Amino acid sequence: MTYTLTLQEIEAVTPDTHKLTFNRPEGFDFEAGQATELAIQKDGLRDEGRPFTMTSRPSDKHLEFVIKSYPDHEGVTAEIPNLGMTDQVKATPPFGAITDHGPGVFIAGGAGITPFISILRKQQQEGEGQAQLIFANKSEDDIILKEMWQSMPNVAETFVVDKAEQSDVRADRVDKSLLQELVDETEQPFYICGPGAMVDDVRDALRSMGVADKNIITEDGW
Ligand SMILES: Cc1cc2nc3c(=O)[nH]c(=O)nc-3n(C[C@H](O)[C@H](O)[C@H](O)COP(=O)(O)OP(=O)(O)OC[C@H]3O[C@@H](n4cnc5c(N)ncnc54)[C@H](O)[C@@H]3O)c2cc1C
Repeated sequence: MTYTLTLQEIEAVTPDTHKLTFNRPEGFDFEAGQATELAIQKDGLRDEGRPFTMTSRPSDKHLEFVIKSYPDHEGVTAEIPNLGMTDQVKATPPFGAITDHGPGVFIAGGAGITPFISILRKQQQEGEGQAQLIFANKSEDDIILKEMWQSMPNVAETFVVDKAEQSDVRADRVDKSLLQELVDETEQPFYICGPGAMVDDVRDALRSMGVADKNIITEDGW
């Protein structure tokens, strides 16, 4: 079973990341944080499905994705900047382990922010309590939707980068000492998404701080 999505809008959100808006086909239901496998309907790519997360809310009329391109992989994401209006993709039924378990601490690296875009937008819509976002990137230019995070009243954000030039980002690493400084309650949901090594390191740090596995929400295979 696949769904056909038609591109309605594409815009750059960082130097290598685009926001894509598609129509939402009948019956394409999902939980905030879930993903689908997209296959671009162009010669040579039709069989090359890759997982991407819906960044729109389950209640929205359209489907939105935020996709980072890796030109040196010469794979699917290298083609994203070349897509135009009316280009089509096939989508599988949604799947994924990261879903909304209520306000908590959201820890993301790079494009690993995508499930949290949908979940935190939904929490804001539903008037949920305060969440904390710790978002790591190489540089300030790589921070996806920085202004949106800063404008969300239900999100207290900390941007962590390798090299900081602005006062609203800090040069640091997401490790145990940073988590101990920023987090004062271990009995709450901790969401982690990003490169595999980062997820492993953050999960270990949280466990050593006494966070129970049942409170750690993550997805392998990014
Ligand atoms: C559940 C889930 C949800 C996801 N959601 C999103 C999302 O919303 N947004 C997003 O941007 N990403 C997301 N990702 C990550 C995304 O799926 C990958 O970035 C994407 O599959 C990369 O596809 P690609 O074809 O460009 O490259 P790949 O399929 O990674 O690679 C293509 C080829 O390039 C080569 N290659 C691989 N790695 C390298 C390397 N480091 N250097 C050089 N060559 C290499 C290999 O030969 C490979 O066959 C998600 C992943 C998962 C698991």
